[in-house]
Amino acid sequence: MRDFSQDHRWLSINTATVRRSRGVELPLPRIIEACARRGIRAISPWRDQVAAAGLGPISRLVRTHGLELSGYCRGGMFPAVDAAGLAAARDDNRRALDEACELGAACLVLVVGGLPGALAGRAAHKDIALARSQVRDGIGQLLEEARRANMPLAIEPLHPMYAADRACVNTLEQALDLCDELDPSGAAAARAALGVAVDVYHVWWDPKLRQQIERAGRSRLHAFHVCDWLTPTTDLLNDRGMMGDGVIDIARIRSWVEAQGWAGYSEVEIFSTGNWWRRDHEEVLDTCIARHRSAV
Ligand code: ZN
Repeated sequence: MRDFSQDHRWLSINTATVRRSRGVELPLPRIIEACARRGIRAISPWRDQVAAAGLGPISRLVRTHGLELSGYCRGGMFPAVDAAGLAAARDDNRRALDEACELGAACLVLVVGGLPGALAGRAAHKDIALARSQVRDGIGQLLEEARRANMPLAIEPLHPMYAADRACVNTLEQALDLCDELDPSGAAAARAALGVAVDVYHVWWDPKLRQQIERAGRSRLHAFHVCDWLTPTTDLLNDRGMMGDGVIDIARIRSWVEAQGWAGYSEVEIFSTGNWWRRDHEEVLDTCIARHRSAV
């Protein structure tokens, strides 16, 4: 297992972590500059942040600073109520794929979606099996294009509390079942076309976690996201903790991932309306560096 205590060369910042500074939206170019000043070598930006600043300018800025992208957030949201909705999702995912390629991302992260309408508080139906079959079909279609573009797709299983509104893929086992079904040759590849993003926030509780990380192997491990699970958690979405402030044994999970040959970035991904987004982003980034050394 790599020693992170001496430096932060394997730290990546998911730019949602500092999307607000002192409660105010922080433009992506300023986030990039602040990361680069600290010798942070990788980021994982969100599409809305890239769109606000422009794909071209961000692409140039990333190259100017020699930054890597540990991932691109995000594609997915496949389920829909009708054919037009499914087609719109397909088109949007194609655009996400193009952007990921333009930015040179390591993978396109997929948050697959749940019941259509649920995110807006009005689920169109209760058929989660239907949603899951639409997810399977949607990933299958996107995978063809991802192969041509040589851009790995990373299914991110989300904690089951998001099954209705954000992702009906909720365990690593379920995600890997999809990988094996849609990309059977990937298991033997050096880098599978379809793999997973392991986010400790979503999967730390899973009794099968170690077993499923071993099943994923190096070929299907495309991203490793870290933050912490606070007790109590006061918001289902936006109360993620800084590494070391909660109950997740992050180092243990990292040891399992690295035992499979994972040697990529630990990507800090914190959504925190009540705490970290209220602070100055410079302080947040410095804290990420310190905790990357001490608690990851
Ligand atoms: Zn994540």
